[in-house]
Amino acid sequence: MKIEPGELSPEFLEKSAFHPYICSMLNSVPREDTYLQKGIRKQLVQSLRVKGIRDERVLAAIEAVPRHFFLDPAFERQAYEDRAFPIFAGQTISQPFTVAYQTQLLEIKKFDKVLEIGTGSAYQAIVLAELGVSVFSIERQKTLYDHISNFFFLKKFPTIKRFYGDGFEGLPSYAPFDKILITCGAPFIPPKLIEQLKPGGIMVIPVGGDRVQKMLRVTKDATGKVYEEYMGDFEFVPMLTGKSVNQF
Ligand code: SAH
Repeated sequence: MKIEPGELSPEFLEKSAFHPYICSMLNSVPREDTYLQKGIRKQLVQSLRVKGIRDERVLAAIEAVPRHFFLDPAFERQAYEDRAFPIFAGQTISQPFTVAYQTQLLEIKKFDKVLEIGTGSAYQAIVLAELGVSVFSIERQKTLYDHISNFFFLKKFPTIKRFYGDGFEGLPSYAPFDKILITCGAPFIPPKLIEQLKPGGIMVIPVGGDRVQKMLRVTKDATGKVYEEYMGDFEFVPMLTGKSVNQF
C-alpha cells in the first residue's frame, strides 16, 4: 500500500507504543459504535455500490460491521476510507472494496462452510460470519493470531474458528469446503486447497507476483473439473509458506 506524506508508516506503528501486549489489551475493551460512525459507514457502503458492488447482502454485512473496531482508537478517522490500512506485525486490513468484491465473487449461501486463508484482523472473517456461514480461518503469524485472541468483537461470532497454521496446507481434517477465500497474494493456486474444495464449490484467490496479483475465481464442477475466471488486478501482502512466530 502507498503511504501518503505525513501518515504513519507500518515501520513507525511497529516501533512505537503499539506493543503486542498493549495492543491486545486495548482490543479486549468494548468500543462504541456511534450514530456518527454508523452514518459514515453508510456513506462507505454507498461508495462501494457506486464502485460496482451489487450484492445487497454483502453491502448489508459491510454496513453491519464497525470497521473502526479493528483499528487502534487513534485511527478511527481512517476506518471508513476505502483503503487498506496497516494493522499490526507489518500486515494490513484489506480495503473495504476488496473485501466486498471477494465476498461477492464467492456467491455465499447461508450455512456455507468457508475456509479463509489470512485471518489478519478478522475483519473479512466477521463480514463472512455476518452472512450466516461458518468460517474456518488460518493465520500463519503467531503474533497476529494471538493479537485477536481477546478481541471483544470477535467473541460475538461463535461461527468463526481460527487456526494458527500454513494456509498452503488448508485444513484437511475439516474439508471439504463450499467456498475458499485467500486474502493474501498467492504465487500459484495451492493444489491442496483445490483438493479441499467441494464439487460445485468456489475459490477466490489473488495469484501473481509480489506487487500485483490477478484475482481468480476458481470453480469446481460436479465432476471435479476446475475452471478459472480472471476478475481484475489487485494488490495483497504476499502469501508466505510455513508458520512464523514473529513478524516474518
Ligand atoms: N483477511 C484479513 C487480511 C489480512 S492481510 C483481514 O480482513 O484483515 C493477509 C494475511 O495473510 C496476513 O495476516 C498474513 O500474515 C496472512 N498470510 C500470509 N501467508 C499466509 C499463509 N500461508 N497462511 C495463512 N495466512 C497467511
